Amino acid sequence: MALTTQQTQELKGLIANRQKALIAELSEDVRKTRAERFGEVAGEVSDHGDESVAALIADLDQAELSRDVDELRSLEAARERIAKGDYGACADCGREIGFERLRAAPGAIRCIACQTLHEKTFAGPGNPSL
Ligand SMILES: [Zn+2]
Repeated sequence: MALTTQQTQELKGLIANRQKALIAELSEDVRKTRAERFGEVAGEVSDHGDESVAALIADLDQAELSRDVDELRSLEAARERIAKGDYGACADCGREIGFERLRAAPGAIRCIACQTLHEKTFAGPGNPSL
């Protein structure tokens, strides 16, 4: 593995801190959403428990929240790769992602070149002709 033990430790710390922040943020969102739901449900007639859970899930599905969930998931995957010892290698070309890039984006699974290519290939809503 190309990263030094010290670099890996630093990235592990970054991942742990970022996860903690994301979890706090998500918990707060869930708490707020629940408070709102319970407020609404309390004002309504019956015990439609299932409907309010469905509504909660729908709320959690909001774009911003799901970005956080995605990031949390990618950080969790990064932790698993660190544990397995294959962290820091590009998922597409196998070359090193690089410490600086990982420090900016610890959940990154691709090197910059492959990521740029990936985004060009998969994310071009403005260029349907390509
Ligand atoms: Zn690559």
